[in-house]
Amino acid sequence: MNWDRHTLWSAGWPALSAGAVGVVLSAVISPGFLIPSCVAVSAVAGSFLTAAWVHRGQQEAKARLRHPELSGTGNPGGIFGEVTQAAVTLLRQYESELQRLSVAKGELEISGKLQKKQARRLDAALRSIDQPVVLCDTRDQVLFTNTASRRLGLVEDDSISDSGTFGDLSRFIALQQLIHDTRTRAVAAPRRTAELNFTINQQAIPFRTTVTALFDDQNELLGTLAVLTDVREEKSAKARHAEFVSSVAHEFKTPMASIKAFLELLVDGDVSEPDEQKAMFEKIDYQVDRLNRLVSNLLNLARIESGAVKLTREDCDLNDVIQRAAEVIRPLAEERGQQFVADLSQLYLPVNVDRDFLGQAIINLLSNAVKYTPEKGRITLRSHMEELEAIIVVEDTGYGIPPESLPKIFDRFYRVPEHQHAAKGTGLGLAFVQSIAEDLHNGHIGVESTVGVGSKFSMRIPLGHQDSKRPKKPAAKPEPALANA
Ligand code: ADP
Repeated sequence: MNWDRHTLWSAGWPALSAGAVGVVLSAVISPGFLIPSCVAVSAVAGSFLTAAWVHRGQQEAKARLRHPELSGTGNPGGIFGEVTQAAVTLLRQYESELQRLSVAKGELEISGKLQKKQARRLDAALRSIDQPVVLCDTRDQVLFTNTASRRLGLVEDDSISDSGTFGDLSRFIALQQLIHDTRTRAVAAPRRTAELNFTINQQAIPFRTTVTALFDDQNELLGTLAVLTDVREEKSAKARHAEFVSSVAHEFKTPMASIKAFLELLVDGDVSEPDEQKAMFEKIDYQVDRLNRLVSNLLNLARIESGAVKLTREDCDLNDVIQRAAEVIRPLAEERGQQFVADLSQLYLPVNVDRDFLGQAIINLLSNAVKYTPEKGRITLRSHMEELEAIIVVEDTGYGIPPESLPKIFDRFYRVPEHQHAAKGTGLGLAFVQSIAEDLHNGHIGVESTVGVGSKFSMRIPLGHQDSKRPKKPAAKPEPALANA
């Protein structure tokens, strides 16, 4: 039997009515046997039918929820049908709202996770910066510091307060003042820079400190960010540069003064003897050579560093290049009463090099040996072959280089402090030698030295001619390139 809501309603209504009338009669007139039975039966029937009707209504409502397309547009259930319809609509709205909220919750969770990840990334980035970084809020309380600023002692890990800040920077008055000034006068100048000293291991270290006021999109001040840069290296580079300029000027001045003095003697006719005149011209010539060397060193180093140098490589015997350099320096050594020994390889040393550049590098090594060796000392120049390399050695019995200076000896403008008065120089010669050997010729330059004993510079140049078809020269030479002096 199809107990639809309409059938149930039609059957249940009379039963319910009869039950109700029975109850009223038994209550008002007198409680007889027949009437109460009738009432009881009607009441039970009415209750049963009503419960069945309600159950059926619920089933229908659920079915409509599951299959809204089956719901009719009519109103078969009368007033209860309308109520059910309204409830269904409400439930549907509630369900779609629930769905929308659950999607929004998922999106929020994802964006929250992304934001957390982004924040962790920024945090890690700031922490990894080598420069000390300090982030302050709008009350100049420290919100964030990186590892470098903790190393500097700007904040301590245990100084974090309940409000999540590290307190103020009152121990660093100058920094605190700079942060305060930047924040309070941010409109006029959102960034301020000052050089401040911080003490590390009882040593005052200069830091270029830049404080920037931070604003959001609406131009509301969020706080300040201080970034500190250690300027020790920069300052010493500037000092070295100034020293270099003054050394160069000095180096130029000395030979120019002697040239001028010799010329004045000649012009005034103070030197009349041809032999004396010749000697004077030779001295002028020597000073001009010195000037030339200095200018070439400067120009060449600048060219190598800017990558503008043009090499003219050629296949040759390395001993030829060495011999030419020795000829330039030998008179200088003899002038100082030094013993000059050249012990060159008997073998042909095939190399593919720029003779001028490599020659200049060997001249620099030899001229240093002369400069930093006292009179009567000995300078030895050697060449030999070792596996795939040709080795040039310049050894002296001079002042030697202190161990702490050895790592810096090839730096531009570096001069051993103890040698400042021993000889004039620019601190460029060895930098040039290194560039020529390593950058231009794929070789290597090294040094060993003992103070008071002497120094030994060894330059290694790869062996081999570029043009392998070129007829080979004899492996051994009949005569040494330079006789031992
Ligand atoms: P400089 O023009 O001062 O000679 P270099 O670059 O040629 O510049 O050398 C740098 C420094 O290395 C020199 O100032 C000197 O102190 C030291 N030096 C170089 N060669 C020798 C050497 N043979 N013996 C001792 N010290 C040397």
